[in-house]
Amino acid sequence: MIIAIDGPSGAGKSSVAKACAKTLGFSCLDTGAMYRCIAWLALQKDIPLDDDAALGELARACDIRFGHSDGDPIPKTVFVDDNDVTSAIRTSQIDKAVSPVSAAPSVREAMVHLQRKVGLSGNFVVEGRDIGTVVFPDAQLKIFLTASPEERAHRRVRQNADRGVGSIDYEEVLRDIMRRDEYDSNRAESPLRPATDAHIIDSTEDYIEDIIAKICSMAHACIQKTAEEV
Ligand code: C5P
Repeated sequence: MIIAIDGPSGAGKSSVAKACAKTLGFSCLDTGAMYRCIAWLALQKDIPLDDDAALGELARACDIRFGHSDGDPIPKTVFVDDNDVTSAIRTSQIDKAVSPVSAAPSVREAMVHLQRKVGLSGNFVVEGRDIGTVVFPDAQLKIFLTASPEERAHRRVRQNADRGVGSIDYEEVLRDIMRRDEYDSNRAESPLRPATDAHIIDSTEDYIEDIIAKICSMAHACIQKTAEEV
């Protein structure tokens, strides 16, 4: 079973996806981390961020892996070609580079291919921007998680402070969030938008625990329905 969680930056997708996966005994796939890996590689190799062909070649050739602690289905680390990039992909430099990289059609093609392969290997909560619309249009449960830009910027600042990586300047983070919203929503390839059958959840004023409980209860209903159908 696939649970798709889409939405803009800082809406709480990662925390919600991880907590739901843990409760449901699912694995978790962070597709944003995959695009960040390609942006990191492109910067390492000095590839121009508008060179679709070269970026596509990079995306097809690289090996992206998520590291798990023993028995934990939630990944803790990200590797690209054996480099541990867990922190390196969360810097403000990558925040800026990832938008043009993820808009490159050949990068999207390679990542979507990989995401489908991983997602179909078990029960997954998959988070991103186009999971319910493009990657898994038949996902059994689709959530579009959003919140006001200001609230998302506050959360991102707290998250960056906890991780010890990325900007903790509220105004800078807010500007970046608004820039990425604009870019992700208006690009030609797989723009950020809710699937027509997605449940839209605005988390601006809700407790994250309540949202997790709501999604898990929807997931249980889907699991029950599927069991009754077979
Ligand atoms: O989720 P996160 O903020 O880490 O994603 C980084 C960037 O990757 C987004 O701003 C977006 O440009 C891109 N992305 C995407 N499609 C996805 C996931 C992320 O285009 N499925």
